[in-house]
Amino acid sequence: MKLLEERIRKDGVIKEGNVLKVDSFLNHQMDIQLFLEMAKEFKSKFASKDINKILTIESSGIGIAAIVALEFDVPVVFAKKSKSINIDGDMYTAEVESFTHKCKNQVIVSKKFLSPNDRVLIIDDFLANGCALQGLISIVNESGADIEGIGIAIEKGFQSGGRAIRNLGFHLESLAIVDSMDAATQTIDFRQQEA
Ligand code: 5GP
Repeated sequence: MKLLEERIRKDGVIKEGNVLKVDSFLNHQMDIQLFLEMAKEFKSKFASKDINKILTIESSGIGIAAIVALEFDVPVVFAKKSKSINIDGDMYTAEVESFTHKCKNQVIVSKKFLSPNDRVLIIDDFLANGCALQGLISIVNESGADIEGIGIAIEKGFQSGGRAIRNLGFHLESLAIVDSMDAATQTIDFRQQEA
């Protein structure tokens, strides 16, 4: 998506350790007009799917997922990070290793909000090694719901997550795929994608 790629070039900051900071428009301060354009793009990419629920993960996926949910006119559920070790049986749980914070979090979704009748679109801001997505996929699988697709704002194509998720057979769409980026020169290359 050209609009997102241009914004990343203009306002993104490439940090050491393969981290792209986009906190001025995506995951701290949020440009909702941009989110709306991204949501429309997801809507057209998943137009053939009968989606009735959006699922994301706390915290930085929530903003985008909320606008995507508005576009699809369905509810959005976010997996919560939980410190409690005694989760009762009313929750689906998964363990997720954080790429940016290098720690493990247990994430939970109440069984009230995900059931075998649901047809889910998973949304997140970044895809790096795929741990966050694997956690969400395992929660949906546990619930018996179907995964209709996965929508990512920014995929770092030089990390392993995208390939692994596509190899599992999921319909994964990323609005911008970074093929390489360099902190020293602040240069970034995007993968050419079909419009
Ligand atoms: P993964 O689980 O795929 O390794 O990483 C995905 C999660 O880590 C995303 O939910 C996102 O919050 C965070 N993340 C991964 N890479 C980056 C990055 O380059 N920049 C930012 N801001 N967050 C990232």
